[in-house]
Amino acid sequence: MREIGHFIGGKHVAGTSGRTSNVYNPATGEVQATVALASVDELRAAVENAKAAQPKWAATNPQRRARVFFKFVELLNQNMDELATLLSSEHGKTVEDSKGDIIRGLEVCEFVCGIPHLQKGEFTEGAGPAIDMYSIRQPVGVGAGITPFNFPGMIPMWMFAPAIACGNAFILKPSERDPSLPIRLAELMIEAGLPAGILNVVNGDKAAVDAILTDPNIAAVSFVGSTPIARYVYGTAAMNGKRAQCFGGAKNHMIIMPDADMDQAVNALMGAGYGSAGERCMAVSVAVPVGEETANRLVEKLVPKIESLRIGPYTDEKADMGPLVTKDAYNRVNGLIDRGVEEGAKLVVDGRGFKLQGYEDGYFVGGTLFDHVKPEMDIYKTEIFGPVLSVVRAKNYEDALDLPMKHEYGNGVAIYTRDGDAARDFASRINIGMIGVNVPIPVPLAYHSFGGWKASSFGDLNQHGTDSIKFWTRTKTITARWPSGIKDGAEFVMPTMK
Ligand code: NAD
Repeated sequence: MREIGHFIGGKHVAGTSGRTSNVYNPATGEVQATVALASVDELRAAVENAKAAQPKWAATNPQRRARVFFKFVELLNQNMDELATLLSSEHGKTVEDSKGDIIRGLEVCEFVCGIPHLQKGEFTEGAGPAIDMYSIRQPVGVGAGITPFNFPGMIPMWMFAPAIACGNAFILKPSERDPSLPIRLAELMIEAGLPAGILNVVNGDKAAVDAILTDPNIAAVSFVGSTPIARYVYGTAAMNGKRAQCFGGAKNHMIIMPDADMDQAVNALMGAGYGSAGERCMAVSVAVPVGEETANRLVEKLVPKIESLRIGPYTDEKADMGPLVTKDAYNRVNGLIDRGVEEGAKLVVDGRGFKLQGYEDGYFVGGTLFDHVKPEMDIYKTEIFGPVLSVVRAKNYEDALDLPMKHEYGNGVAIYTRDGDAARDFASRINIGMIGVNVPIPVPLAYHSFGGWKASSFGDLNQHGTDSIKFWTRTKTITARWPSGIKDGAEFVMPTMK
């Protein structure tokens, strides 16, 4: 059995806690490796290592820090097939989808190649008599990132790329469900020229997370995962004097106005609802058609497409989606489908009991569609995180707007319409962080920032974009006065009282 340890100080290190967790192949249900779960002592040792390496890295000029990322981007591109296959083998999503996961992280690495410009400070000449004032952005020291299973490439890179580019050392605690890609990324960072000790991967569970949150040498914590843990990490980090940005769950709606191009809207819903088996924080899980006639047209067009989804293991190049990540996830999603039926929602396409020949023990759930879902139902309130789309029929635009406005989560939302006025009104009034206008998954690019509102995000600075440079640096403002001295040098003529 393969044992996945940690990557500390530029080297693979075996776990010593005696605790491990299984890593599965979600398509077959087989245990393919075990991953070490770090103890407090192992975490503390990694932090000491990082702390020792950080000052020299921070003193490395920003062009040279950027060059590591130029090289890292090249290595990611060269090794893309291998990296995506490794990711898929533990996550279960298709290899093409894994490439998207890695490329979205790679783009953040491209963004931080601009660190010499991004980390520049501000300067005011003559802020007072002979006074200049300037602000510089210094790294926080040692930062940590705690990441979810669903984007084991993109989300670690959201965090470690800006943190390291700014001159910090970094401790990454990836999801214990798919830990191999993050370790491979750390190896490639070393190959790209990063000094040992600046990027460390410590595998673990709650014990490692708690050790991060209470370690006095860690100054900043970035978290992405489910909302209850995001809330806990945010509170505990703050109580321990750390800055924190914590991103949680989602329930993303897509409003379909009567004037929308229905074929476009249906295709968008298929990709955004069922891609990656719905295991995306920006997946669309609620469709809100406006008006009965729009709803009927939508459901009629969706059904045959859902029924013909191609579901397969990551080795099937033609698959639209793969299995769920674990047996727990499989049981949870099936349980929620049962719950929807009990609550009286109309189950139009049932993905329970889906079986694939040769993969009978895999965690596959077929594409599922509920119609006539009501806001008081559990399947509406809960983030299902599976291939389950709920249709909530709205009478008019105001009722449709009201649904995402009142929902606990506020990650992403989309509107499909040909009416610029409706789209503009929607974008202006909605209380959600990321809005798509005729775009189903409005994930901002690396040079903008990613973050939701309400229970989808705790903290004020988003991931990537210029927010990330602020998060991973501290501002220092210097006020300097240089009293005027003799500027003209020696005087050789007889001094007179002029
Ligand atoms: P999760 O909350 O179970 O785990 C996230 C991380 O927290 C992992 O590293 C895990 O080891 C750790 N963890 C788990 N339980 C813990 C505990 N009790 N105490 C301390 N740490 C703990 O999330 P997941 O299942 O890996 O990921 C799916 C969730 O992440 C979904 O809710 C999804 O919406 C969310 N997500 C959000 C975003 C976003 O940007 N808002 C992006 C991706 C995923």
